[in-house]
Amino acid sequence: MRIVIKVGTSTLTHPTGWQNIRMVERLCRVISDLKNAGHEIIMVSSGAIGMGVGKLSLSERPKDIPTKQAAAAVGQCELMYTYDKLFSEYHHTVAQILLTASDIDCENRRENFHNTLSRLLELGAIPVINENDTVATDEIVIGDNDTLAAMTAVSVSADLLVLLSDIDGLYTANPRTDSSAKLISHVKEITPEVFALAEGKGSELSTGGMTTKLRAAATCMASGVDMVIANGGNPELLYDIADGKPIGTRFSSK
Ligand code: ADP
Repeated sequence: MRIVIKVGTSTLTHPTGWQNIRMVERLCRVISDLKNAGHEIIMVSSGAIGMGVGKLSLSERPKDIPTKQAAAAVGQCELMYTYDKLFSEYHHTVAQILLTASDIDCENRRENFHNTLSRLLELGAIPVINENDTVATDEIVIGDNDTLAAMTAVSVSADLLVLLSDIDGLYTANPRTDSSAKLISHVKEITPEVFALAEGKGSELSTGGMTTKLRAAATCMASGVDMVIANGGNPELLYDIADGKPIGTRFSSK
């Protein structure tokens, strides 16, 4: 299977902004093993700004754009250094791809992205994609990696997109504010009623929330790509997800 796996900042970093070493190590171990089992894996990884905040010892997540972009520049190095180091332990090679919306909007560049990605997969590398936060401005920003991950999954005709989040899946209401919320294990169609279940933005370090995940699901389903939202706190769930077991919320395209 060709699987795109998106990891959110909440999975990769502690609330302090510093890297969650245990989690990143488990994630890289499982992804390496899935690759060894014959799956093609593409990662879409957030976490650059979060890691830059930790690395630069900033007291809080920056609000002004130059500091945000500076933190992203520092954090992106840290992120790729970490992936390179951990995947190398399992003899896998990572490749960094940084994009902005203009790379997707422009046909030439979109085609280049597709060709490079396909070639990297043929070469056996693990592409790690992120928004190019150091140059992205409001005009050219994709805005969130749920969207970027869905675009990527569609571009390479992936079999599956997995969004690893800080929550088990889509619930009937936001479980952080409604204790009676129930996990929805299967969604066959994204209707306005489904969109209405998503509430606001997620954690302090997140940019997306559930709304962008549902938009990503709609993009994927329209192109025949299945999507799963699962809890990144347990990367071993990826084994069961790859085996088609009912984990988190599955959005079926067929
Ligand atoms: P990540 O950073 O891991 O991508 P986000 O914080 O962006 O995750 O999105 C997940 C969050 O969305 C949850 O932690 C929760 O607070 C919020 N949320 C809002 N509505 C829902 C819902 N119906 N079901 C589950 N989570 C929801």
